[in-house]
Amino acid sequence: MTTPDSTAGNGDKNNGFSALALSPQMLANLTQLGYTQMTPIQAAALPPALLGKDLIAQAKTGSGKTAAFALALLSNLNPRRFAVQALVLCPTRELADQVTTEIRRLARAEENIKVVTLCGGVALRGQVASLEHGAHIVVGTPGRIMDHLERENLNLEALNTLVLDEADRMLDMGFFDDIVKVARQCPSARQTLLFSATYPEGIARLAQQFMKSPEQIAVQSQH
Ligand code: ADP
Ligand code: MG
Repeated sequence: MTTPDSTAGNGDKNNGFSALALSPQMLANLTQLGYTQMTPIQAAALPPALLGKDLIAQAKTGSGKTAAFALALLSNLNPRRFAVQALVLCPTRELADQVTTEIRRLARAEENIKVVTLCGGVALRGQVASLEHGAHIVVGTPGRIMDHLERENLNLEALNTLVLDEADRMLDMGFFDDIVKVARQCPSARQTLLFSATYPEGIARLAQQFMKSPEQIAVQSQH
């Protein structure tokens, strides 16, 4: 008996991801990255996220939350439109760098997609130059993003996806007001995805400020 793989290299080997509305190139890239199974938070978050719904998703650290929002924002993105279409807010520079690296790995399946990281503690001038060269995706910390918005270095008119990553940590660090201000500068016709390891009270207040009937997902730790 033969077991031909008639699905061009994806299909069964990509159990889970292949059921999603992702391009064949993206599925092949996921296979190449060794992403053969969706993690539980990806399996729960990706179907509604790819339908364009707002989400509040909670899962512990190391559960694969980055790819969950990265695949959603990439699916909303038009690479031929050279404007910032997605913004990811992270609590620290280190986390912003990690998110940028993961988005670049996932985005390499698509056309040239430019990701720019904007965090505090770095000279503004170089960041302004990067923005002037053009970016599809911006990843950064709320204070510095707000700074660039106030200086009109960053234009969010074409934005269609706003992501809050590690929202609980951003609240711990006192970023509530900056996050709300940034969200108010985004077009209201957009998707907002909030990811967090825990669910402190501030998250619901944050969501009330600027999310649209968010679907709530929580994947509990198995340990
Ligand atoms: P979190 O943000 O939830 O802490 P990350 O997004 O940083 O977790 O992912 C943790 C690790 O798991 C990363 O090294 C990432 O490349 C890997 N990973 C994510 N999704 C998958 C998957 N579906 N299959 C295999 N590895 C994955
Ligand atoms: Mg993370």
